Amino acid sequence: MARSKVYWFGPRGRISYVSKGQTLFEEAKLNECFKRGDRVALKIHCGEWNNTGHLRPNIVAGIVEKVKEYGGDPFVTDTTTAYPNSARSTAQDLLKTAARNGFTEASLGCPFIVADGDNGVDDVKVKIDGNLLSHTYIAAAIAGADAMIAVTHFKGHPQSVYGGSIKNLGIGCCSKRGKIVTHLLTHPKLGLTNPEGFGFDPEKCKGKDCPHYARCAENCPTGAFQVLETPPYAHKDYDRCVGCAACWSRIGCEVVTWPPNIEYYFPATISDSAMAVVKVLGQKHVGFINYAIDISPWCDCAAFTDAWMLPNLGIFASNDMVAVDKACLDQADKVPAVAGSMAFDEDVEDEPWLAGHEHFTHVSTKHRWPGVSQWIQINAAAKLGIGSIDYELVEGTAKPSVEYTMAEMTEHPTAFRMRKKYKRQSPKPDPDCYQEKIRVTIEEINTKPK
Ligand code: SF4
Ligand code: SF4
Repeated sequence: MARSKVYWFGPRGRISYVSKGQTLFEEAKLNECFKRGDRVALKIHCGEWNNTGHLRPNIVAGIVEKVKEYGGDPFVTDTTTAYPNSARSTAQDLLKTAARNGFTEASLGCPFIVADGDNGVDDVKVKIDGNLLSHTYIAAAIAGADAMIAVTHFKGHPQSVYGGSIKNLGIGCCSKRGKIVTHLLTHPKLGLTNPEGFGFDPEKCKGKDCPHYARCAENCPTGAFQVLETPPYAHKDYDRCVGCAACWSRIGCEVVTWPPNIEYYFPATISDSAMAVVKVLGQKHVGFINYAIDISPWCDCAAFTDAWMLPNLGIFASNDMVAVDKACLDQADKVPAVAGSMAFDEDVEDEPWLAGHEHFTHVSTKHRWPGVSQWIQINAAAKLGIGSIDYELVEGTAKPSVEYTMAEMTEHPTAFRMRKKYKRQSPKPDPDCYQEKIRVTIEEINTKPK
């Protein structure tokens, strides 16, 4: 594949991430993804209830402004979760969570829409010739848009090793059943709906003696998983199981266990579903902007936010999802991990927290999936031909800082517009508000208190 361009602003400098994103939108020509009057989806991750690592709403609002400036009709969107035990499982819950995290029409400057409808079943079936999938299901509001900008928070992820643009499409744009398919939960050899997939050992269930009994007994939305009165307590009816993954949370008790190698295949399947999104919208109609800031080792789907594992890396924009994710990972491996974070292990040989190491591979291997690499999504996507691992990094060109101020957005400077107000009500303080003599010395205030 031809070499792709990735436009990049590093984290330093006196320009905000909002402004850097807006400038890179222009430099990467993301406006060419759509025409005047087109309905443009801005796909974000609004974050789980109590998560604080998600993108700030004003960063997204900055891209909304750009889409409007070029004549697009934007809407910001996200999808419900596959699993029915999150604060984003239904449209109502997702809207409540998004609003609590700051994503509202007022903050964004355009509507916030749940793309797969009230129960997560509004979708379009898309045939693909993937590495693992032959079709998947894309959320209807995304499939029905004229174009999409993936506005992505780049960070870690407990199953896919990292989360970037590929995952924002391959999981984030899927409906509930699209996510179930992509997580391989109905796969005949790896899924939850088949005895040959996830392990199930009812003998390990402690029934009412288990501290989690009350919640566990009510946790299956179809009643396929039950905790009975007499041993063996756990019972599963495979015919009724839809593979929703609510009983994943029971894995800790070892009644339900992972099938071998699913941890390698799941990140590859994300790339299959990402291919479905570009197939339905058209490759030219999707743009990508990754904000590699506030890099938690967990996804924004967690109901918490751990310490940042890496320093901020900056903003990356491209029309190639593989190149933009690869550029973020390459940049990540050039810096040392943050001391005290999940990626920092003083007691491990080879000092994997130092620059030059694969930080996401290290976190995955040490804390989650031994041996699972950060490159699976990228390799699988490149094999599908939906992007290039070969890219050129082009540094963004900052405009004069005055162009990034709100005052520049109006015909006259704010000071000029306030002249009449100052005449009516001057903010000038009274002259006697100061002590005649300064009562502290610089020496006494400029040292650490004893
Ligand atoms: S399945 Fe596991 S969590 Fe649920 S009641 Fe049995 S032992 Fe407890
Ligand atoms: S048994 Fe099936 S339907 Fe029930 S919680 Fe588990 S995956 Fe979901």
